[in-house]
Amino acid sequence: MGMDQTALGGLITRRRALAGGAAAFACAGLRCSGSWVDSLLSLGDSEAPAEVFKGDAPDDRVWALWQARGWVKEASHYLKLGANVQCKTCPNNCILEPGDRSHCRNKVNRDGTLYTMAYGNPCTFHVDPVEKKPLYHFHPGTMAFSLATSGCVFRCLNCQNWEISQKKPEETKDPAGPQLRLRPPLPRALTYEDLARASLFPEDVVAAAKALGCPSVAYTYSEPTAYYEYAFDTCRLAREAGVRNIIVSCGSIEERPLRDLAKFVDAAHVDLKGFDDETYRRLNSGKLEPILNTLKTYRDLGIWFEVINLVVPTYTDNLDSIRRMCGWLADNLGPDRPLHFSRFNPQHKLDHLPVTPIGILLEAREAARAAGLRYVYIGNVREVADAGTTYCPNCKRAVIERDAYAVTAVRLDGGRCRFCGTPVAGAWGA
Ligand code: SF4
Repeated sequence: MGMDQTALGGLITRRRALAGGAAAFACAGLRCSGSWVDSLLSLGDSEAPAEVFKGDAPDDRVWALWQARGWVKEASHYLKLGANVQCKTCPNNCILEPGDRSHCRNKVNRDGTLYTMAYGNPCTFHVDPVEKKPLYHFHPGTMAFSLATSGCVFRCLNCQNWEISQKKPEETKDPAGPQLRLRPPLPRALTYEDLARASLFPEDVVAAAKALGCPSVAYTYSEPTAYYEYAFDTCRLAREAGVRNIIVSCGSIEERPLRDLAKFVDAAHVDLKGFDDETYRRLNSGKLEPILNTLKTYRDLGIWFEVINLVVPTYTDNLDSIRRMCGWLADNLGPDRPLHFSRFNPQHKLDHLPVTPIGILLEAREAARAAGLRYVYIGNVREVADAGTTYCPNCKRAVIERDAYAVTAVRLDGGRCRFCGTPVAGAWGA
């Protein structure tokens, strides 16, 4: 299976897709407005939708199995263009003819309606410390029920979860056999076969988190934007049940679905993968501006979030670029926004590259501090003793110490430095 532009006679642009179709132009999303449609119509041909998988939607037999499981749901943010549809969840803005599958692999156009196939069917879930997200200033030492489905909006050459992110739902789940709905009391162990056919609907996720003593649910590992409808419904129920929501994302999402989702989000981790479009194009098949917009939206909404930057040799290890990134973060998000530099390990399509040298990570940390950022960390290293230490921005003493994902010391009282009383930015407590 591969992506095929030529079947359409070339890449469809928004303008071409909309041309002549205005009379049939309908908004299937729940929150479509005239100004949104107007702005779409005003976009130039250079902003072409992403490539999709032509004719790769499942056949009737598989679709019926998926429906019987409850693993499909109509997408929440899309436009109808006659028989075609355009997803408006992420900047890929996929246009699908009937029978097509989306760039993220999770959505299909079936008879003129856009459906997600990644609903209630996570391909993996675990209980993780929030430090693993990483979130260092959000209820340290607590656990998050963490899940993912297949699919991703990006194509990162270095993806560490490519075995799920670069797969379609049918490659990670099996709808054959008896229904297996996971609800408390949860089984002590699952076989791979059980996991492949297991359902975990939004209410089940919330119940599982509570049963396992997790105050948070984390939408992570692959990309929650690619399983937006599932994440959204789960976030809403979790909020009602007093369970926190953590979004771990590349940040490539349209503003409208982001703002809708953010009503239920307690914390986010955004992966800022580089600081120029060329790097995003080469390394991730993405663009920088939507990520910066997401960061500014989270800032404006007052949601706690932290930023991570993976330092990939020859791709994102240029110190000038790192300095520009840190300057932008300090200027636009303020000095209290935590920044995590992370060490690259060879994998996926970049398994020929070396691990990131420690010296570059230390220089990056210095550059971030010089830009005025107060909380700068280095992840995936054992060689730097204070890589995960939070220092008081005033007296410079260590107020939180960590060993990998374990919190080994907390010297905060009510979110203030125990030594000098200075507030430390974040959301504290259990
Ligand atoms: S979420 Fe998926 S279907 Fe929607 S625009 Fe992004 S890649 Fe395309």
